[in-house]
Amino acid sequence: MQRRAVAQEGRTERGWLRFAGLDAELPYIDIDSGVPGPRLAVMAGIHPNEVSSMEAALRLAAAFDDGLRRGSVTLLPVVNMPGLAGHAEFVIPVDGKNLNFSFPGRVDGSFTERLAHALVTEWSAGADVVIDLHGGDLREAVAKFVMVQTTGEAAFDARTRALARCYDAELIVEFQPGETVNTGRATNMLPRLGRHAVMSEAGANGRLDEACIAFHVGGVLNIARLLGLTSAPLLPHGRTARILSGFSRVVAPADGRFYCEVACNDVVRAGQLVAVLRDIFGIQIAEMRAAEAGRVVMIVTHNIVSEGEWVLSIGLPLGEA
Ligand SMILES: [Zn+2]
Repeated sequence: MQRRAVAQEGRTERGWLRFAGLDAELPYIDIDSGVPGPRLAVMAGIHPNEVSSMEAALRLAAAFDDGLRRGSVTLLPVVNMPGLAGHAEFVIPVDGKNLNFSFPGRVDGSFTERLAHALVTEWSAGADVVIDLHGGDLREAVAKFVMVQTTGEAAFDARTRALARCYDAELIVEFQPGETVNTGRATNMLPRLGRHAVMSEAGANGRLDEACIAFHVGGVLNIARLLGLTSAPLLPHGRTARILSGFSRVVAPADGRFYCEVACNDVVRAGQLVAVLRDIFGIQIAEMRAAEAGRVVMIVTHNIVSEGEWVLSIGLPLGEA
């Protein structure tokens, strides 16, 4: 990994990262307090339309430049640089793969797999916590929520739960040990390597939203406080998070016009109508119903969907934080 610094102001260095074997440069912002201490690694823009989370990374850089007391922070404000200008939805256009489901990656894999491997083994090596900021691609809306992976190891999971509760979240998804459906995210895979990771989601439709930006910034700053990187007071929570054990993927049964009947964070009953699908003439062709009771985590916001498209996620409740 090579750092090509282009600016140094105070304790903050900005520049470009390059990994061996990958023809791409990623912008980085590093803040070093000059005092030994924990290291925090924060990335955004794995999905490069999720701009509220990417904006949060920039604001965090400014906050840490001012407030870091111990340790260091490394920030990647846009991981998917190859997809940025073309507004790529979910994938890195070099190989068409979704980095979000490519961790821990492969050293001899395709571009996306190599990048995942480099992020795990080089960029975030030695970090006490890796935080992955997401939320609100061009055609989706998400609840303000956090994802973490539990392992079954009590002390590790207690720390993981404390990290997740740093966010003022509507929902916290605690993926259960042995989770097999939702794998490949950094937040799912790093705990299997004994490393702490948190993923936060907030945003909609590729737009900047101050409440969503504040959700991401506030959660990361609280984690920094928990780790002892800063001495700022913990930001208070305005709501009680509901804890989920995971979430289902509801897919469109056919091409059509999608009329969603629920909003993010809504409570749904088993069997409740959550969306209607109509054909090109507006004739109803399918009803979509919740298989189980839960909370709405994500909805597609575009009226036109295709067969097999992931259009809704419903999380399964465990309790309250
Ligand atoms: Zn995302």
